Amino acid sequence: MSELSLAYIFHHDQLLVDVNFQPPKVEKLDNDLCFQAGDQVIARDLNPDDQIPEGYQLIPIRQLISLWSTAEFEQASRAVQLLEWRRNHKFCSHCGHETQVHPSEYAMVCPDCSYRQYPRVQPCVITVITRGTDEILLAKNANSKSQMYGLIAGFVEVGETLEEAVQRETLEEVGIHVKNIEYLASQPWPFPSNLMLAFKAEYQSGDLVLQEEEISDAQFFKFDQLPEIPIAGSIAYRMIQHVIHNSPINQCSAD
Ligand SMILES: [Zn+2]
Repeated sequence: MSELSLAYIFHHDQLLVDVNFQPPKVEKLDNDLCFQAGDQVIARDLNPDDQIPEGYQLIPIRQLISLWSTAEFEQASRAVQLLEWRRNHKFCSHCGHETQVHPSEYAMVCPDCSYRQYPRVQPCVITVITRGTDEILLAKNANSKSQMYGLIAGFVEVGETLEEAVQRETLEEVGIHVKNIEYLASQPWPFPSNLMLAFKAEYQSGDLVLQEEEISDAQFFKFDQLPEIPIAGSIAYRMIQHVIHNSPINQCSAD
């Protein structure tokens, strides 16, 4: 019998875990996506006809971020992104022929025209903006029903630097100019396939004017009077703690 592999088995964005929130060990199948040498870690989609095994449950991957270490979450996030990429690239985007999985690289290869499709990440800037020594800008997403206030974030556009993206997103979403933009850290964020690039910046000028489709409220909050903020484990949470308490931005594990 072959050695068992640690398996990230997904049903959409839900992951199969046991009562202690650990993924199962299974025998590897031909169609599994391997992402460590030696077949020790695999990812697969739960077959719609499969029953959930006794003692296991499906948990949305977002909830695992606060239960797992950063390394564990990053591995699962890699698994869900690679599975989604494989599912969405069954055909060649150049000629339309059915693709094949490359035997050793993360690539879907077209046997007809040889075009290769690789997984892509979407760079996304997220900015923590302060004013003076004791105020932070927090904004409420117009498309969310929760009362949570988060940071200004958005996708980097083609041909733009990260700093330009920070300035453009801030101006578009809340109407203000920022200065002293400084890189802090990054975090892969698998919803669906983003790389969050964290920056801090200081308020420079302008009045808060909200982009209504995106932002339902935004205010400069005193550090000791914060509203509901993003969950621990998210980069937004760490950024907020960093500017308020000067805590380290990079955590190696969930302590
Ligand atoms: Zn092709």
